[in-house]
Amino acid sequence: MTAQTRTSDRRPDDPARRPHEGARRSDDAARGPVGGPSPAVAGAADAPDEEVDPLLIGRRIRARRTERGMSLAELAAALDRAPSQLSVIENGKRELRLGELRRIARALEVGVEDLLDPAPPSRRAALEIALERAQAGTLYRGLDLPDLPVRKTLSDAAIETILTLHEELRRLHAQRAATPEEARRVNGQLRQEQSEAGNYYPALEETARELLARIGHSGGPLSHRKVSLLAEELGFTLHSVPDLPHSARSITDASSMRIYLPLGRDAADPRTTVLQALSAHALGMAEPADYGELLRQRVEVNYLAAAMLVPEQGASEFLQAAKAQRELSVEDLRDEFAVTYELAAHRFTNLATHHLDIPVHFLKVHSSGTIVKAYQNDHVRFPTDALGAVEGQLVCRWWSARRVFRAEDRMRQYSQYTDKPGGTYWCTSRIESGSGGEFSISVGTDFAHTRWFRGRETTVRHASSCPDPDCCRRPAPELVERWQGSVWPVARLHASLLAAMPTGTFTGVDRVAMLEFLERHAPSEPHTASADGG
Ligand SMILES: [Zn+2]
Repeated sequence: MTAQTRTSDRRPDDPARRPHEGARRSDDAARGPVGGPSPAVAGAADAPDEEVDPLLIGRRIRARRTERGMSLAELAAALDRAPSQLSVIENGKRELRLGELRRIARALEVGVEDLLDPAPPSRRAALEIALERAQAGTLYRGLDLPDLPVRKTLSDAAIETILTLHEELRRLHAQRAATPEEARRVNGQLRQEQSEAGNYYPALEETARELLARIGHSGGPLSHRKVSLLAEELGFTLHSVPDLPHSARSITDASSMRIYLPLGRDAADPRTTVLQALSAHALGMAEPADYGELLRQRVEVNYLAAAMLVPEQGASEFLQAAKAQRELSVEDLRDEFAVTYELAAHRFTNLATHHLDIPVHFLKVHSSGTIVKAYQNDHVRFPTDALGAVEGQLVCRWWSARRVFRAEDRMRQYSQYTDKPGGTYWCTSRIESGSGGEFSISVGTDFAHTRWFRGRETTVRHASSCPDPDCCRRPAPELVERWQGSVWPVARLHASLLAAMPTGTFTGVDRVAMLEFLERHAPSEPHTASADGG
C-alpha cells in the first residue's frame, strides 16, 4: 500500500519528539541555606550532598545538646537567641545558614560535619523524623487530618504502628496509580499495531464471513432476527433482564449457554451487544488474565461484531463505487447497513486503506473536548501526554472534532480543512449522543486524498498550530490580566479520571454483582445433580 509508505518530507522536524531537555537541575541548591528549602525537589536523590533535611539537622542538634546535659535555654543563651527560636530550629521548621550552623556547632563543641551527618542520631530520632516526614507528605495532607504531635509520651511502638499505616497508604496509592498506567502502556502498543495494519485484520474478516454464512446472510443490513438466528445457531439463548449489573454490557453463562442482556438500558444498538457476546464465544475467549489481554479482546470483539454488521465484501464494493463517483461518505455507509454513525466510521477505517488505498484518521471526542477513542495511519498528530497516551487528551479547539459542536445545523454533515503543523487535513464530523453525553465522531484524511470524499467542497478552513500552546491553550494576555486573582472555578472532574478500577478486578466489572446475578438467573437443572450428592 503506497499510501502508507509515502514520504513524509512535508512534515518538518517534530519538536515534540525531541528527547527531553531542560530536565537538568539548576544549581540553585548550591547557594543559599544549608538545609535546602525545598523538600519538593524531586531529584534530591541525585545530589544527596547538596540537600540536607533541616529536620535531621535539628534532631542532631537536640541529640548533641541533651548529650551534653544542656537545656534549651542554656544553648539559646550561648547563641544569644530566644529559646523559642532554638526550638524552631530543633524541630526542623527553619533552614539554617552556614554561619548559624557553625556557631551552633561551636557552642556544642562538635564539628559542622557532625551536625550534617545524614544518619539520624538515634533510633527514636529516626522514628520521629519518619513520622514528621510522612505527615508532611502530600498524601497525608490530602486527607485533611490534623498532625499528630510527636511528643515524648508517644511510645516507639505507637510511632511504628502509625508509620506502618502510612506505608500501607502509600503502597495502596501507588498500586492504584500504577494500574491505569499499565493499561495505558498496552493501549499505546495496540494503537501502534493497528496503525501498522491499516486497522484491517483479515483473519477476523474471515471469521465474520464464516459466521454469517452459517445463517445464510449474503449482504445488506443484518436484521435483529438474523442476529438472534446466529445466537441460536451457535447454541445460545438470549435473555433480556432488568437487573444486569451496571458495569457489564452483557454476561454470558457458558454452562447453560445463555446470554444476558440489559432490558431497556443503553442507547446502544442491541445487535452490537449480542454480536459482541457471540464474537467472544466464536473467538474462544476466556476471561482475560491481564490488561493486555483485556484490551486486545475488546479490540477483536468490537472488530468482529462490526465486521458482521457491515460485511467486508458488500461494504468494500459499496465504498469502491462511491470512490469512483468521488462521493465517499460515512453517512452513506451508515444508511446502507443501518448501523450507528460511530460503527460506520469505525468500519470505514477498517476498509479505507486496504480496499481504497486511503490513509485515514478517526476520533471520538466528548463535548468537553476530551478524546475517547483515536486511530490514525495518515500521520495526523494527535495530542498526547508525556507518556504518549492519546485518550483523555484535549483536542485542539480548531479541529473539526471540536468545531462541529458549534455548528447550528446538526442534520448536515460538517466538514472542514485544517492546516496543521504536519500538513493540511480534511475532516468530517458528526455528533452522536451516548450514555455519557454528546460525542463527535470524526473521520479525516490528508489533503491529497480529500478528492474522493463528499464534502471536499467545504469552504470552512481553520489553522491549528497545536501542540504550540499559543494555538488555543494559552489565554490572551489581556484576559489573563483582567481576571487575575478574581476567578475561582469549581472543577467538574470526569468520574473516570479519578475512579480507581474496582479492586481485585481490572475488567471493570463488579464481580460480586456479576456472580450474584448469575446465581439469581441460573436455570435450576444444573444444580439438582449436586444437591443429590450432598
Ligand atoms: Zn490548537
